[in-house]
Amino acid sequence: MYNRVLLKLSGEALGGEGNKGFSEENMQYLVDEIKKISSKGIKLGLVVGAGNIIRGKDLKNFKIQIADQVGMLGTVINSIYIKNYLESSGLKSVVISNIVQLPSVIPIKYDDIEQYFENGYIVIFAGGTSNPLFTTDTAAALRAVEMEADVIIKATKVDGVYNKDPKEFKEAKKYDIITYEQAISQKIKVMDTEAFSICEKNNLQVIIINFFHTGNLLKAVQGEQVGTKVIP
Ligand code: UDP
Repeated sequence: MYNRVLLKLSGEALGGEGNKGFSEENMQYLVDEIKKISSKGIKLGLVVGAGNIIRGKDLKNFKIQIADQVGMLGTVINSIYIKNYLESSGLKSVVISNIVQLPSVIPIKYDDIEQYFENGYIVIFAGGTSNPLFTTDTAAALRAVEMEADVIIKATKVDGVYNKDPKEFKEAKKYDIITYEQAISQKIKVMDTEAFSICEKNNLQVIIINFFHTGNLLKAVQGEQVGTKVIP
């Protein structure tokens, strides 16, 4: 059982695969899955992407450093959205970020974060890394180190990491566990390079799961075999 967990959700978890906006069904599913783990008393941090709203690279006519600011704001929208759903289901949560000043968003202060965890809050880290040119994978890695998480659980729509693209190759083999060295030497892309390097440097375990299989998140938190675990 992991006690301190950073859960990285892509924007698609809120909107449904390839969709923009929010799906009531997906939001309810998300809350139900989180409820299963929060009842175990773990300290849970969340980082959410913005693919369901906008990614910087979608804005073709923008300079990327400008477009990414739009993307980062998308993560704030998603974070507030998740907070509302969690609270409607009786789960205490707080959105923290340094990129906006809003009545529902609190600035990042390490001492406060620990207090929120102690008091049973789910802490939603919004606004990515606070810098353009990064992704929320990197934000997840950074926040995981900051909150001293035991593991990052990356919620995806695939069952884990394969040696080949399973959509293209029938014989593709899923890894239950791989080391950082193996992933690098076999050029397996677990997350973006910056995120990967932060995880490796800080000895962080990452578990890639198919979030859309009911109960997978709980299994991962309980240390059961699910998805692919990347270890130092
Ligand atoms: N973003 C950014 N800096 C960060 C994190 C995110 O500029 O530290 C922007 C970037 O434009 C990115 C968007 O926010 O495309 C949404 O994040 P991401 O692409 O990681 O979302 P996901 O694919 O996980 O839904």
